[in-house]
Amino acid sequence: MSINTKNYQEIITGLSGKATLVAVSKTKSVEDIRALYDLGHRDFGENYVQELVQKHEQLPKDIRWHFIGHLQSNKVKFIAPFVHLIHGVDSLKLLQEINKQALKQAKVIDCLLQVYIAKEETKFGLDETELAAVMAYLVNDQPLKNIRIRGFMGMASFSDNPEQVRAEFRQLRKFFDQYKSDSSPVLQVDTLSMGMSGDYKIAIQEGSNMVRIGSLLFGERTRPV
Ligand SMILES: *Cc1c(COP(=O)(O)O)cnc(C)c1O
Repeated sequence: MSINTKNYQEIITGLSGKATLVAVSKTKSVEDIRALYDLGHRDFGENYVQELVQKHEQLPKDIRWHFIGHLQSNKVKFIAPFVHLIHGVDSLKLLQEINKQALKQAKVIDCLLQVYIAKEETKFGLDETELAAVMAYLVNDQPLKNIRIRGFMGMASFSDNPEQVRAEFRQLRKFFDQYKSDSSPVLQVDTLSMGMSGDYKIAIQEGSNMVRIGSLLFGERTRPV
């Protein structure tokens, strides 16, 4: 077993109830997840559909599973029955598919729109214009009844310049503030998912209320992601 209990306690204390900790368990064993579960933790994040489905089958059913990876439309059906929150929604096509699968399950699936804030080409997400277009479509036409937008997710640049990272988080916070007072059946914006092991303290200072932390809890990953 290789979870870092000391880091876990420190993070929980540091967040002091103001932000939800999503423990990112991708590539880690069910035993490691179980160890954190036994400490009372319930929110876990995974990046791969097949891995998530297998872990969901093997672990207690009161775990809240967050899907934080890049989701392909043809795989939504596998996680729709049980997923708690989908963080990385970056297209209308994907939202439509989530809506379709949620309807089949007679439920509403909570989603975060992923916004592109980094200076790196490799990261996913909607840009400002695309975000505005998606939001306008959802609110004005209300075509999707089985999804609910709960907020935004973003990843800052992998940079050793904290001011760069801070500026990127600040940009995401701006979108959050812009939409959080809008009320419509499809919008209930109360979640700002930003911050990982290396930058979560900055994210919290910039208004994050959900952090996604893997390596500080479970150790470095050997398999690259
Ligand atoms: C892997 C991953 C994390 C966690 O990264 P750490 O640096 O290990 O804390 C957070 N968010 C996303 C989207 C990830 O893919």
